[in-house]
Amino acid sequence: MARPLTVVTGGSRGIGAATVARLAADGHDLVIGYSSDAEAAAATAASAEASGARCAVVHCDVSVPADVDRLFDTAAELGTLTGLVNNAGITGGFGRLADAEPATIQRVIDVNVVGVLLCCRRAARDLGRGGAIVNVSSGAATLGSPGDYVHYAASKAAVDTATIGLSKELGPDGIRVNAVAPGIIDTEMHATGGDPGRAARVGPQIPLGRAGTAAEIAAAIAWLLSEESSYTTGAVLRVAGGR
Ligand code: NAP
Repeated sequence: MARPLTVVTGGSRGIGAATVARLAADGHDLVIGYSSDAEAAAATAASAEASGARCAVVHCDVSVPADVDRLFDTAAELGTLTGLVNNAGITGGFGRLADAEPATIQRVIDVNVVGVLLCCRRAARDLGRGGAIVNVSSGAATLGSPGDYVHYAASKAAVDTATIGLSKELGPDGIRVNAVAPGIIDTEMHATGGDPGRAARVGPQIPLGRAGTAAEIAAAIAWLLSEESSYTTGAVLRVAGGR
């Protein structure tokens, strides 16, 4: 049996890096996209290779169509694509919508929505029967995130809708499309957005009493890519500690 070959966008850090590590352990070969942190991407790839995976690292801003093509062209050089994890995403900072800069709103939509659609579009062309896409959404899509980042929540609701629509388009081709909606996960994303203490502060208010880990999200993603979930498509799997 050929090893599965999976593209992970934003695979350099956080949930993406944990997903790369988990999929490498599960026997996948991997193509890792990153946008700025080449060192982190190289370190993630080195540890996946130590688990026996073939790995390629590609600089790819998912909002740029030519970058997305380069990402998938690199995968095609390694073999037949079997999976895509649309993980790259940004919040664009915290605050009320009234105070958000138009350029920030535009950038969040470009990365979180246009980026996901461009990668799904290319994967829809490259994946064969048995292929699977997992989009990383957010619990914010249904909470709305008032006072934090309404624009980000709206972008993730678009990801959920794209997941449902594409699952129906690609189901007859034997390709499954699902999403994972994490709650508050302890990664650098909160510090990047300007609130480094967020996971520790909000954790106790979550029904399970803590923030989640990137590895816990990676486990859900790995399941949705695997044959274990062969009859699951169009699902948005909330992994949010009950939030
Ligand atoms: P993170 O630690 O900030 O990592 C973000 C990743 O996305 C990095 O690999 C980064 O690459 C990449 N990236 C950012 N902009 C990109 C672009 N334009 N093109 C390609 N890659 C880009 O974030 P995270 O917490 O792991 O979040 C991963 C996903 O989970 C996101 O979609 C996020 O919305 C979602 N999520 C996170 C949480 C949470 O609490 N952490 C909750 C719900 C949903 P570089 O390393 O090169 O910068």
